[in-house]
Amino acid sequence: MSRGRGKISIVGAGPGDPELITVKALRRLEQADVVLYDRLVSDKLLGHCPAGTLKIYCGKAPGRHALTQSEIDRLIVDYAKVGHRVVRLKGGDPFVFGRGGEEALAASRAGIEFEIVPGVTSASGASASASIPLTHRGTAASFAVVTGSRCGEAEEPVRWDLLAQGVDTLAIYMGVSRLEEISSELIRHGRDADMPAALIENATTEAERVITGTLGSISRLAVTMKVGNPAMLLIGDTVGMREMLRPSEWENRHIV
Ligand code: SAH
Repeated sequence: MSRGRGKISIVGAGPGDPELITVKALRRLEQADVVLYDRLVSDKLLGHCPAGTLKIYCGKAPGRHALTQSEIDRLIVDYAKVGHRVVRLKGGDPFVFGRGGEEALAASRAGIEFEIVPGVTSASGASASASIPLTHRGTAASFAVVTGSRCGEAEEPVRWDLLAQGVDTLAIYMGVSRLEEISSELIRHGRDADMPAALIENATTEAERVITGTLGSISRLAVTMKVGNPAMLLIGDTVGMREMLRPSEWENRHIV
């Protein structure tokens, strides 16, 4: 399997739809000796690896032990050290809440050649497939990518006060279990409770669901509709454009 000098490619797989991967990422999979992949990566993508590629699952699943970040860092370095072409395949983009920075640091510290291959991040995937622009002339001049998982924590707190007022569209990752806290923080800091909001569950996949409401109603709707992970929360006036842009209605019009 090994041929000469090893290398680590930290690769974004895109948001879910296996067609939303870059040409460069596919080339890396086609030449991989070892692939370490995450839970949110489509199985179809692994089919691009050669028959002899060693595939290592890193995510959590019932009955399976999830590798810790330091175990993953060690594995990618160890496989590359003995000359393998290592692909670390991650959902979305490796540098957006993907811990790609930690893996790049591990490679760099070990003196191993590495590269980052970007991917379509799930905010872009969800925005496109739900017909919700992240920016729109006259409506939204900025958007922010935010983690919802640290809501209410003292360490490295998210600046909800600044985000509530200073950014037009908010794309909140990892927020499903904290929707109530997130929306009340934003409302407390001056964001309009009537502002449109959407949850896009399993964006870009066949299981995609879009739930729309307002900042004030979205956490209740999520409970009623039993929204689970992974889901993207988009908050902003452009969410209201979905009604006008829905491609599904277009398709129906053509069929009829
Ligand atoms: N690196 C990834 C993000 C990993 S954090 C990226 O760039 O997209 C995991 C979070 O991403 C999830 O909690 C969810 O908020 C979001 N996410 C990932 N895939 C998603 C999908 N198909 N639909 C909606 N949200 C998704």
